[in-house]
Amino acid sequence: MTGFFNNLKKFFSPPQDSSSNFLTLKVKCGRCGEEIEVKVRKSTDISRIYEENQEGPSGATYFLRKEVLGKKCNNLIYATIYFGPYFNVVSKEISGGEFLD
Ligand SMILES: [Zn+2]
Repeated sequence: MTGFFNNLKKFFSPPQDSSSNFLTLKVKCGRCGEEIEVKVRKSTDISRIYEENQEGPSGATYFLRKEVLGKKCNNLIYATIYFGPYFNVVSKEISGGEFLD
């Protein structure tokens, strides 16, 4: 798991002082059981929900749709998370795996 995490760090390399711009998503692969940690960048990975085309649950302000691929197998995990105004989780769905909290 640390190898995958280090690979991600090469791409994102977040500055120390902006860690609040990132969320860490932990999922478990439904096929091989690998635990995968993904850094989510709030500014680019998370979209704001506008009222006129709102599809998410009530109270949701932001949503994240993320495809996660581990390195032990080629099972693609799809995670969708809805957040409230303070990035509190309102609702979340996943296919191909499960969330780890
Ligand atoms: Zn897997």
